[in-house]
Amino acid sequence: MKQYGSYSFWLETCGDDLTPRPGLDGSIDVDVAILGAGFTGLWTAYCLLQREPSIKVAVVEAEIAGFGASGRNGGWCYSGFPVAPLELIGKYGYDAARAVSLAMYDSVDHVGEVCQREGIDAHYAKGGELQIARAEHELPSLQATYDEYRAIGLEDHYALLDRQETESHIRVQGGLGSYWNKEGAAIQPARLARGLARAVERHGGVIYEQSRVTDFTTGSRPILHTERGDVRARTIVLAGEAYLSQLEKTKRDIIPMTSHMVVTEPLSDAQWDSIGWENREVLMGGGTSNGYIQRTGDNRIAFGAFRAEYPFQSKITDALDKNEAIFEHARRSTLKWWPQLAGIRFTHAWGGVFGMPRDHMVTMTYDPKQGVAAGFGYSGEGVATANLSGRVLADLITGVDSDLTRLPMTSHRPRQWEPEPLRWAGVRAVRWSRLRNIQNIEKTGKYPERPTLADRLWNW
Ligand SMILES: Cc1cc2nc3c(=O)[nH]c(=O)nc-3n(C[C@H](O)[C@H](O)[C@H](O)COP(=O)(O)OP(=O)(O)OC[C@H]3O[C@@H](n4cnc5c(N)ncnc54)[C@H](O)[C@@H]3O)c2cc1C
Repeated sequence: MKQYGSYSFWLETCGDDLTPRPGLDGSIDVDVAILGAGFTGLWTAYCLLQREPSIKVAVVEAEIAGFGASGRNGGWCYSGFPVAPLELIGKYGYDAARAVSLAMYDSVDHVGEVCQREGIDAHYAKGGELQIARAEHELPSLQATYDEYRAIGLEDHYALLDRQETESHIRVQGGLGSYWNKEGAAIQPARLARGLARAVERHGGVIYEQSRVTDFTTGSRPILHTERGDVRARTIVLAGEAYLSQLEKTKRDIIPMTSHMVVTEPLSDAQWDSIGWENREVLMGGGTSNGYIQRTGDNRIAFGAFRAEYPFQSKITDALDKNEAIFEHARRSTLKWWPQLAGIRFTHAWGGVFGMPRDHMVTMTYDPKQGVAAGFGYSGEGVATANLSGRVLADLITGVDSDLTRLPMTSHRPRQWEPEPLRWAGVRAVRWSRLRNIQNIEKTGKYPERPTLADRLWNW
């Protein structure tokens, strides 16, 4: 049996003993069969059961609920969507771009509301999101981000803060100013995933763990096939995100990218006095020591490194989770943000995979003829977005006509990734070139006059 607590600090400290639930034992018939008990699968199950309490929902999970990215991420539950407003306007128009942001704001709040209603102690704190400039040349990018939201008339959710205003939130080495988005919360992600799984069960859903889906059938009689039996349904839902790359029928819809994190021991009161950060804003900045950062509910600093890598042939193994060079980079970066913490102990380090679609666009679709729904492609911004997937898919599957079912993700079809070895070579080249750009900007203090090819191909 796997030691599931060893897969992340969050899983280890989520308060559950992580003993797997019983697996599937023979074939069954349900209304909706969901592949994957991460945020997407669990929110879809939860929202379906809220809309139609008598619906028969089965969630089929290869390991345990929260085993994937949902139990390992940075806990940034915020309104950022993988495609920024100006690009959304260009592709889908002003109204659609605005509707996506409004729906994302609702998702951040919905996560908090459900935690409260269902008694899930996910350490949810809505302090907003802060992006801090730690060098002069980073200040214009804060303005540019703010302008994206002004373009859709939603600038009142955001603010540009000068140095002093920033320091009233948090003090970081060299902080010059910041961009604040009030639509963000910090969470303990494994507590949310595990609590949500229990809520799904309380409302009548059944979760089968240790039951890997090996294939699926679509059409008038959709089925999730496992080695332990078939789950026949009216609708199947593909909610495996990065792991959908491991199934023959979806292997070119998405690729897995790694992400790695470290966490410190709890900081002392004196250390917190030197930093501030009382509202637990989720935090990032720019440059080579950038990261996705949060103050945890138990007063540590969790630091995620932007050093995503792609494994050849999309092969996901446990070995990907351990990358000492990236862990060390994350530890050193933490100390660049707060040099006064020199000597602090880093207690945990872990990694996981998130899904990257070829065109960066999220998919939230339902094909009633084929009896198949899917929610994936969050490009590392899936905590709140997976909640939106759950709400959208529940409306689509139950035939509710809502603002959510008209969002552009509902008509999106994933663009296929190139076959190997082209895919591996292409992703590596773009990643390398992006990192070089960041290093050059940091060295020279100047941005290239035009976005580079790598920047245009890759915005993560
Ligand atoms: C280290 C890291 C940090 C991140 N930080 C953030 C962040 O701070 N904010 C943010 O918004 N996003 C973040 N992300 C991304 C975010 O965590 C994901 O986008 C999101 O959790 C995806 O949820 P999901 O349910 O779609 O997929 P997952 O959580 O990956 O769940 C998929 C589930 O499917 C199961 N499964 C896989 N294959 C099968 C199969 N064949 N049969 C049955 N079950 C199967 C898996 O075991 C897993 O439980 C991060 C990701 C990583 C890896």
